[in-house]
Amino acid sequence: MKLRPVTADDGVERVRFDCPGCESPHVLPVTGARAWGFNGDHAAPTFTPSILITYTGEDEGCPVREVCHSFVTLGRIQFLGDCTHALAGLTVDLPEVP
Ligand SMILES: [Zn+2]
Repeated sequence: MKLRPVTADDGVERVRFDCPGCESPHVLPVTGARAWGFNGDHAAPTFTPSILITYTGEDEGCPVREVCHSFVTLGRIQFLGDCTHALAGLTVDLPEVP
């Protein structure tokens, strides 16, 4: 399994995966108005469209804007060139979640 379901009180189903680029989890809604397209396969997930995540990180005490932009297709994650982490431009397997 590469996804873990996330339960919430709002009735929206979400899934979580561990992003090897950010080394932190990303959570996507798969039902509701803002849902991603999802093939329903927790072992080899595909999401559409791309996943763009921005957040504020830190570099030697200074805040920096971090970008993680990816396509997840059949259990593999393709990081686009605008990612700020070390896996930009690479495609790797999504890790298994415990
Ligand atoms: Zn990420």
